[in-house]
Amino acid sequence: MEILSAGAARTVTGSCHHLHFDGARVLLDCGLFQGGSDLEARNREPFPFDPGELDAVCLSHGHLDHVGRLPLLSARGYRGPIYATQATRNIAEIILHDAAKLQAEDYQRTLRKAKRAGREGDVAPPLYGVREVERVLTQFRPVEMEDPVEVAGGVRAVFRPAGHVLGSATIELHDGSMRLTFSGDLGNRESALQAPAEPARPSDVVLIETTYAERNHRSRAATEAEFAEVLAGSLERGGNVLIPTFALERSQAVLYEIRRLMERGAIPRVRVFLDSPMATRLTRFYEHGENEFRDEVRAVLAEGRDPFAPPTLEFTVDTEASKAINEVTGGAIILAGSGMMTGGRILHHLKHNLWREEASLVVVGYQASGTLGRALVGGAKRVHIYGEEIRVRARVHTINGFSAHGDHDDLLHWLDGSGDAEVFLVHGEPEVMDAFSVELRERGRRVTSPELGRTYIR
Ligand SMILES: [Zn+2]
Repeated sequence: MEILSAGAARTVTGSCHHLHFDGARVLLDCGLFQGGSDLEARNREPFPFDPGELDAVCLSHGHLDHVGRLPLLSARGYRGPIYATQATRNIAEIILHDAAKLQAEDYQRTLRKAKRAGREGDVAPPLYGVREVERVLTQFRPVEMEDPVEVAGGVRAVFRPAGHVLGSATIELHDGSMRLTFSGDLGNRESALQAPAEPARPSDVVLIETTYAERNHRSRAATEAEFAEVLAGSLERGGNVLIPTFALERSQAVLYEIRRLMERGAIPRVRVFLDSPMATRLTRFYEHGENEFRDEVRAVLAEGRDPFAPPTLEFTVDTEASKAINEVTGGAIILAGSGMMTGGRILHHLKHNLWREEASLVVVGYQASGTLGRALVGGAKRVHIYGEEIRVRARVHTINGFSAHGDHDDLLHWLDGSGDAEVFLVHGEPEVMDAFSVELRERGRRVTSPELGRTYIR
């Protein structure tokens, strides 16, 4: 078997691994590189394999860094099947359409500026548009968790719950002689929503993500207690509480906690707005995702209730409804994207609330350096939003325990099931991978951190 790294090699995005079994070529994931222009330039480079010669694609889950280059793969000659769970297919449809829309908007904005500078020839066109997205969506073939499926001549795949986001799977591939297991993104075993992933099964080779291989998250109980305290304290001060959220998984996890806090009387039943059309659509899918959830979540669904709907929840899909929230000043909870406050509706809410002493900003997600979110978490007293200077008087709280990714102990727990498999470390920062590989070698493992574009024969 040959393993060719086509992404997420000593970096956290662009998940894509090309496997050449005896007589069959299978691609695991086809994600977008994200995070800075150097990385993003790689999306325009040719794949290090011929897309027309592939026999099958298998997807671990619907995040953009795992599916975002699929329209390019199709446009460059791949017309075969893409195997994924139904939830992953639904999520990919929303995520890919959103990516095409953002690329088109970005292109128009850059082009306008370039025209004024007389440099319109320098502007790269979008990677793909709606037509390419629609085409690749016709190639999806839904698979059931735990049901073996023959994906290419002699190669069988088994998708098993990864506990990361709705529909997320680990993928086992078996060609009759060798078994390779791919972790995709592994979930946090302390997630309030997703049932934890079962350990990997004995394999010859394992590809494992290493996003948080160097740390352990706070416990779920500690996170819930902290969230309850921050929300109760913020609402007592009378102002609005803004929670910037990623549309997939984080929004639903936060809504789930708010509902539980309201039902047990820990916080007052103030108005709750989910001000994100994308998160609203994704939340509808969560209402049908019972198989992978924890028993507590499934029990609520079994009663015919919605686990992700606090009693006062309002969805604001159109722009007018979103703008009307600006009139609300006295103690509502507002969830909106983007999660790092780099764009989207949250910016309007920040503009209308950050200057108010009684308002609160509750940050529940990772904030990359250079983003508005990082500046606010770092204690910035003045920020610029839509060209307007805003004095930050609102209180800013950070809660770190909501991660959808497994931590160091979660990764080891999953890996322990794989027998004496050789371990390929993917999807992580180089320093984190190197430290983790030292630890695994001390435990007697054979470890490789593949490099982009290199082939490894096993
Ligand atoms: Zn992910």
